[in-house]
Amino acid sequence: MENGECIFCEIAEKNLPAEIVYEDSDAIAFLDDRPLFPGHVLLCPREHYDTLLELPQHLTGSMLANTQLLARAVEAAVDAEGTFIAINNRVSQTVPHLHIHIVPRRRRDGLKGFFWPRQPYKDDAAKEAVRDAIEREVRKLLNG
Ligand code: 5GP
Ligand code: ZN
Repeated sequence: MENGECIFCEIAEKNLPAEIVYEDSDAIAFLDDRPLFPGHVLLCPREHYDTLLELPQHLTGSMLANTQLLARAVEAAVDAEGTFIAINNRVSQTVPHLHIHIVPRRRRDGLKGFFWPRQPYKDDAAKEAVRDAIEREVRKLLNG
């Protein structure tokens, strides 16, 4: 993707305006322009990666450290009781440049979208089959 096609690359390069709250050599954070609540921040790597799965390992540590930093700052700035931290990877992702949502939360704040319908396992065997499949995939990934 050319940078000119990606709004978050354009924001990172200061070609598009945004209300920036933090930046360093790896990342930039700015206010979401359609916030769930005031103080809703998006944290992006400066470099373009479509989703979390493409983020190289040398940036994973600073992304999580910056998430923690911004969650603390947002909570304090808007006097929130907590935060919701979220990443859409492909499904429901409307901007294909990795971004971490840092959303201030308060009890009874009306954010009902997170009462997701739950899908129970059919039985213990079905649960064990999924557990085993994921464990095997993790082993494959770790063993290259
Ligand atoms: P997603 O749906 O991909 O998880 O989240 C994309 C977020 O980016 C949305 O919450 C949306 O409001 C925000 N957004 C989209 N375009 C812009 C923009 O041009 N500037 C800012 N500040 N936020 C944007
Ligand atoms: Zn981009």
